[in-house]
Amino acid sequence: MNSAAIETVDPEIAGMISNEALRQESGLELIASENTASCAVMEAQGSVLTNKYAEGYPAKRYYGGCLHVDKIESLAIERAMQLFGAEYVNVQPHSGSGANMGAYFAMLKPGDTVLAMDLSHGGHLTHGSDVSFSGRLFDFVHYGLSGKNETIDLDEVESLAKKNRPALILAGASAYPRQIDFKGFASVAEKYNALFMVDMAHIAGLVAAGVHPSPVPWADVVTSTTHKTLRGPRGGLILSKAKHAAKIRSQVFPGIQGGPMMHIIAAKAVAFKEALEPSFKEYQKQVVANASALADELQKREVRLVSGGTDNHLMLADLTGKGISGKDAEEMLGTAGITVNKNSVPNDPLGPVVTSGIRIGTPLLTSRGMKTSEMKEVAACICDVLDKSCDINSVAGRVKDLCRQFPLYGTGR
Ligand SMILES: *Cc1c(COP(=O)(O)O)cnc(C)c1O
Repeated sequence: MNSAAIETVDPEIAGMISNEALRQESGLELIASENTASCAVMEAQGSVLTNKYAEGYPAKRYYGGCLHVDKIESLAIERAMQLFGAEYVNVQPHSGSGANMGAYFAMLKPGDTVLAMDLSHGGHLTHGSDVSFSGRLFDFVHYGLSGKNETIDLDEVESLAKKNRPALILAGASAYPRQIDFKGFASVAEKYNALFMVDMAHIAGLVAAGVHPSPVPWADVVTSTTHKTLRGPRGGLILSKAKHAAKIRSQVFPGIQGGPMMHIIAAKAVAFKEALEPSFKEYQKQVVANASALADELQKREVRLVSGGTDNHLMLADLTGKGISGKDAEEMLGTAGITVNKNSVPNDPLGPVVTSGIRIGTPLLTSRGMKTSEMKEVAACICDVLDKSCDINSVAGRVKDLCRQFPLYGTGR
């Protein structure tokens, strides 16, 4: 492979890629769903495997020439099984949203009732939003965070299950800073004869490393992305009990997808291998320790955190007390080279476009090698911007210094 090919063939795109590399290198990336895939993962993604059509599954393909890709997909499945202890694994979903679509189609009929977390309380678009296929095809009912301590209230989940008799109960979120009690959810699902599904897109890396309880023993089906805390290529994953395997297989292909992306599946296999290493466990422990340290520092500077803190990789800052909207905070921090996303807080008076909060996550900074002492400086930079207690250019300078000390690929991955 000629790595300079793109510069000759398409200098315009090559230039834009270099600019993006520079942007990633020189800013503090606190978007909770982002991470840095290793060079090995990216090499697999950029390989000749992109040339191969392999509709079907290992040893049952609709195309010839699949001997090598069959081995690749089988190894990816084997490693994912080992990593998560699942009875069945499907590595073909192109994305987290596609994994959810495949799982819903396997478990539900159009019009069925599903109980899931409200988007404005931390759920995901594919958990029944009107603008997503999920909300158009199924009848979603939503639980939120309890008014009391801003966590999921299983009593509320149970009373909604009792009232609505959902065919499926879904746990999992995009912006929830606490551990989720999968066992508790499973017992509600069992009591009301509902299937139980978990979307662990955000926390898959934590689960793989054992720093968050695993949903796999409790759920009928578990979906995930592979690119968030799991730190693999952009893609999706489905795990399930053996009894659901046939339906999931046929709903992923030919149900909703055509040919699998073999280059991405190879990259998933590489990421699963990395996640099986002891160093991955250390990494995930550090992600959680960093989130906890960052949360403490922000609270010292009077940032209110939803639920009062975090026990995973992310936190939700409610900026109402600071008199700044989520949208303005995102912009101000962006000027200093700190990237976060605006996020609704429970019962947000400002709506989903402006919002009253921001979501902050530590997976990517931790991949750069930052530890709890750096989190102090990160929190100071964030608060100096929000409180306007320092000139924004001086904060931008401190951000640049921190980034220089911790290169994006400085840890030798
Ligand atoms: C990110 C996410 C998804 C969607 O993943 P894509 O790969 O962006 O489609 C689904 N569910 C949850 C909970 C997520 O956080």
